[in-house]
Amino acid sequence: MTLQEALDSIIEYAESRGIAVNRNSNSFAHVRSDSTITCPKNSKLNLSYLVSLLHEVGHAIQPDSHFQSLRKSKTTTLALILEQEYQAWYIGLEVAKELHLPEALREEFITEYISQWSRYWVRYIRELNKYTANELNHQRSAYID
Ligand SMILES: [Zn+2]
Repeated sequence: MTLQEALDSIIEYAESRGIAVNRNSNSFAHVRSDSTITCPKNSKLNLSYLVSLLHEVGHAIQPDSHFQSLRKSKTTTLALILEQEYQAWYIGLEVAKELHLPEALREEFITEYISQWSRYWVRYIRELNKYTANELNHQRSAYID
């Protein structure tokens, strides 16, 4: 399987679930209000690109947070964000397995996936700890309706 074929299969998976994929944007993101995933237009198609896209697919199909009904506080907001981020990485890998990408792209794919997962997730935890309550609230709104 080529990288392009892997990309096509991920996009097809997303679109079959009503999620649009816009590859002409500035960054990787999931826009809840539009049921859209955006990808940066000037990025090279490589394993890292596929991993980032899968993470956003994870966001697009993940269930609602367990914590969203709790009274909003710095603690419950942190719990919500960390849950959603970890879960999006977890689900993205499940999607990759469902699409048989680990077999098709071999060991390098899994290595790239889990190293990106650990790197971005831990970096995010460190950054969140520096956020003000306002910044956290703004962040929180990306995960709930
Ligand atoms: Zn994320």
